[in-house]
Amino acid sequence: MPMKSFSTLPLSAELIQVVQELGYEKMTPIQAESIPVLLAGRDLIGQSKTGSGKTAAFTLPILQKISKQFSDQNLNLQRDTTLRALVLCPTRELCTQVVREIRKLGRKHIGLQVLMLSGGTPLGPQVYAIEKGVHIVVGTPGRVLDHLKKRTLNLASVNTLVLDEADRMLDMGFHDEMEAILREVPEERQTLFFSATFPKTIETMSKLYQKDAVRVTIEEEETAPAIDQFYCEVPARQGTTYDFTDKLKALLWLLGNYEPGSTIVFCNFKAVVVELTHALKRLGISADGLQGDLEQSDRDSVMAKFRNKSIRVMVATDVAARGIDVEDLDLVVNFELPQKTDVYTHRIGRTGRAGKKGLAVSVIIPKEKVKLTEIEQHTHVSIPSIELDNLDDTSVDDLKNELRFESKMSTLFVAGGRKNKMRPGDLLGALTGEAGGLKGSDIGKIEIHDFFSYVAVAKPFAHTALTRLQEGRIKGRRFRIEMAR
Ligand code: ADP
Ligand code: MG
Repeated sequence: MPMKSFSTLPLSAELIQVVQELGYEKMTPIQAESIPVLLAGRDLIGQSKTGSGKTAAFTLPILQKISKQFSDQNLNLQRDTTLRALVLCPTRELCTQVVREIRKLGRKHIGLQVLMLSGGTPLGPQVYAIEKGVHIVVGTPGRVLDHLKKRTLNLASVNTLVLDEADRMLDMGFHDEMEAILREVPEERQTLFFSATFPKTIETMSKLYQKDAVRVTIEEEETAPAIDQFYCEVPARQGTTYDFTDKLKALLWLLGNYEPGSTIVFCNFKAVVVELTHALKRLGISADGLQGDLEQSDRDSVMAKFRNKSIRVMVATDVAARGIDVEDLDLVVNFELPQKTDVYTHRIGRTGRAGKKGLAVSVIIPKEKVKLTEIEQHTHVSIPSIELDNLDDTSVDDLKNELRFESKMSTLFVAGGRKNKMRPGDLLGALTGEAGGLKGSDIGKIEIHDFFSYVAVAKPFAHTALTRLQEGRIKGRRFRIEMAR
């Protein structure tokens, strides 16, 4: 289907002009399919991936309706501030984004008042703003209902109601609030549902609260992103922010399923890094942790071991991971989602380099889904879920028994470096020469620092290599050599 320009739509000249000024050259598929339906006054259920322009798809018809009502009756937006539209979004953050888009698109509607009603802001100023008069309210179900209960907001004049990210609002437990609000808006209205998925509840709500809704579903086009992103969901247990054991099981499942060579697992807190590293090590998994409290020498050692494949799983906080420079990372796991989208992007950007396709998986509890939506929104990428085999009936030890997750390499620490004129060839020579007796293929990465060096050696030969180097000489002298901690 060739993408159409906005000028083919029966929109006001102002709106066509704004869209052009914003550089929206063509309609996105969800816009091309839903705007005509909405301009015709029909109800709609829309589904398309994140970042596909759903906000403009519902905003343009709302603005068109507002300007038409006003020009027909020779009214002026500054004088008549009747509330016309209500948009419900799951979070404050998503509300902010929608408000921003409405203001952008409505910038030629002089006097247009758009108000955000979400938690995290005192009620008083919101009440004052409502009293001054608004045309469009964008809010979270919780806060909007608070105002309805206090009778500080009246929806009697609303003729367009949008439930944006309806499935996520249900995930957040807003079902009752949504229904209560739907019942407060006059029957004579247009009702729009936007949702990424269509659980039964939405079908039911559509039947109850929409009239003969047109359904628009935009299939995702095939793209080949450099990084495959997924999430997997573990159940939330009562009273905890996340359940450590459930997330651990999911992580073990991922390691067993993908068998990545090198993995970084990101956590938001030092304490989680420590706990998770400990748990993985106890299970015999080749893992170590990086967090801010480590001594510099320990950090160096952990990073060197990770780079030379003596450690396969690195557990780290964002700050601590800054120093890791690993070219071929096979998997990035978010054990916890970061607060900010750019941190997420930075984390997953560590995989999918060096021409290889990367893989990033976020392990989340239902509550974190909202954050995931925000990330999808900001990055314009949709993140599908992967189904874990039923892990409820599987114990950590069951998973562990199926998992062989050791590293093939060990690391030797050599107390001599660049300042001692140490070069990789010197160490390689000492190990593979007559005195060393090892094969070149048993030696991995050799890393020379100023005052020390790290040598990776195939595990079965590590102890031989250690003794040979301790007994022999490098560049004619003895250096302290030990297994890296
Ligand atoms: P969704 O709600 O589907 O996740 P948004 O409505 O947030 O997506 O839109 C994502 C971005 O695309 C926004 O920055 C918006 O300004 C921009 N956008 C919307 N429509 C178009 C268009 N037709 N052409 C170019 N950019 C657009
Ligand atoms: Mg949206």
